[in-house]
Amino acid sequence: MDKIRKLNPRKKIALVAHDNKKKDLIDWAEYNKTALARHELFATGTTGKMLEEQLDRPVKKLLSGPLGGDQQIGAMIATGEIEVLIFFWDPMEAQPHDSDVKALLRLAVAWNIPIASDRATADFILTSPLMHEVYEARIPDYTSYLKRRVIQ
Ligand code: PGA
Repeated sequence: MDKIRKLNPRKKIALVAHDNKKKDLIDWAEYNKTALARHELFATGTTGKMLEEQLDRPVKKLLSGPLGGDQQIGAMIATGEIEVLIFFWDPMEAQPHDSDVKALLRLAVAWNIPIASDRATADFILTSPLMHEVYEARIPDYTSYLKRRVIQ
């Protein structure tokens, strides 16, 4: 049976953008400044610095994405410290840390959190009434996986 993870009205949102997508994310965040003010913001290093300057508010900055920030966010999703992922990744350019990008997107799905990879989806998520309510997210029950018998 699935487990329930309760998300409060003040959501913990992680924002990440690849270099060619940073302008797009900063524009989006500025446009949605008032809506974002109701939530707690986290970001990879460079994205976070730009967001803080633009929004004039604190953003919890992790390491730069390619230097471990993507993996930090992935781990925080697994432990429930991040509840929404806005990740504008670049579909036109391979990244040196493609494996980290893939790992982050994989964990976001493994823990059933909303992910926006582009501006349209980010708009749909931010304008959802669920952003201002307690939301009971269903988390897959990994107990049987954890209890699996591993042949030695
Ligand atoms: P950055 O990382 O915000 O530190 O540039 C983004 C990324 O994960 O590529």
